[in-house]
Amino acid sequence: MSRTPLHAEVITTAPASAEEAVALLRQRGSRATPSRRFLLEALYATDQHLTADELAAGVHERSPEVHLSTIYRNLDELQRLGLVTHTHLGHGPVTYQLASHAHAHLICNTCGHRVEAPDGLFVELEARALTDHGFRVDPHHLAVFGTCADCQSG
Ligand SMILES: [Zn+2]
Ligand SMILES: [Zn+2]
Ligand SMILES: [Zn+2]
Repeated sequence: MSRTPLHAEVITTAPASAEEAVALLRQRGSRATPSRRFLLEALYATDQHLTADELAAGVHERSPEVHLSTIYRNLDELQRLGLVTHTHLGHGPVTYQLASHAHAHLICNTCGHRVEAPDGLFVELEARALTDHGFRVDPHHLAVFGTCADCQSG
């Protein structure tokens, strides 16, 4: 007799709102504290990549007493649950976004111009890394640096 495996309950579509994300936290046995809810609201309110300090500013508009250490712990937990990912956009602090908003970047070393890179750009790299090295590439984690078209011609 076959039974539905527990992990079948894991939803594959990303929550569409902070409320849905809070419901998902509860569903997965994670605590839906007010500070986590405010953090999710700050993440859902933007399509930018925000540092922990910037997210803290958003949370503090709602609840000034939340410590930065709590925000880091909550970011770790939301990443563990797969709701949030972080991206390194250069030498500065790590930035965070909803996992559903993650994408790759091309950044110009000269002028700092940053463009969103389509996933298709990495198809060959991903395939070769997997076939030749058994390695799964995450092109969203680190930006690709170089020189933009304008800076090359200037
Ligand atoms: Zn990292
Ligand atoms: Zn440039
Ligand atoms: Zn971006």
